[in-house]
Amino acid sequence: MGGIQAVTLYALPVFIELTDHLRCPADHAEQYLVLLPDQIVERSVVAGQLGCPVCGRTYPVREGVGELGDAAVVPRPEAPLDPAAMHVLLGLSGPGGYAALVGSAAAAWRGLAEHNPGVALIAVNPPAAIHDAAPALSVLRAPLIPLKARSLRGVVLGPEFAADPFWIREAARVTLPGLRVVGNGPSPALEDLEQLATAEGWWVASRR
Ligand SMILES: [Zn+2]
Repeated sequence: MGGIQAVTLYALPVFIELTDHLRCPADHAEQYLVLLPDQIVERSVVAGQLGCPVCGRTYPVREGVGELGDAAVVPRPEAPLDPAAMHVLLGLSGPGGYAALVGSAAAAWRGLAEHNPGVALIAVNPPAAIHDAAPALSVLRAPLIPLKARSLRGVVLGPEFAADPFWIREAARVTLPGLRVVGNGPSPALEDLEQLATAEGWWVASRR
């Protein structure tokens, strides 16, 4: 991967900041990705490549979306969760850091952002109608949550993912200890997650 070099000359568009937390989705030790932007509009990387220094794979950024491999297609939710309720379930207080909304949970991003100014949101495999809106929202498509372990302040799993043990493990992996994973569906049994509450089909757990 001799052609891949760190690019730090730009005024930190949101995707460049997020790149520090991204991981290559390939099956090897967690590794950061290097961003080679081709087109930046305001603070958003619209087009470019993400390269892995370990395995040499590259992943495209197209129309502002980081495409890190095969991703489930998620329909628009019939009844998206009220952002105020999601805010309470996530329990974020104060600005800074990132939280991820997986699947149709991302439909609530705009209202959630209003409740949590200064917390950048990451939509993972959102419905097609949801586009990146830097710096408040970045969009990623991937077969897992393509972020490093213990890098996020919280994760909300939409109903398409919240009953799947793989995605529950992923949500626990990327969440900082003591912070929360929220899901829609049956309560998960996972050693890394301590159940806090359930309400109206949603569960809340704390990352141990
Ligand atoms: Zn890799």
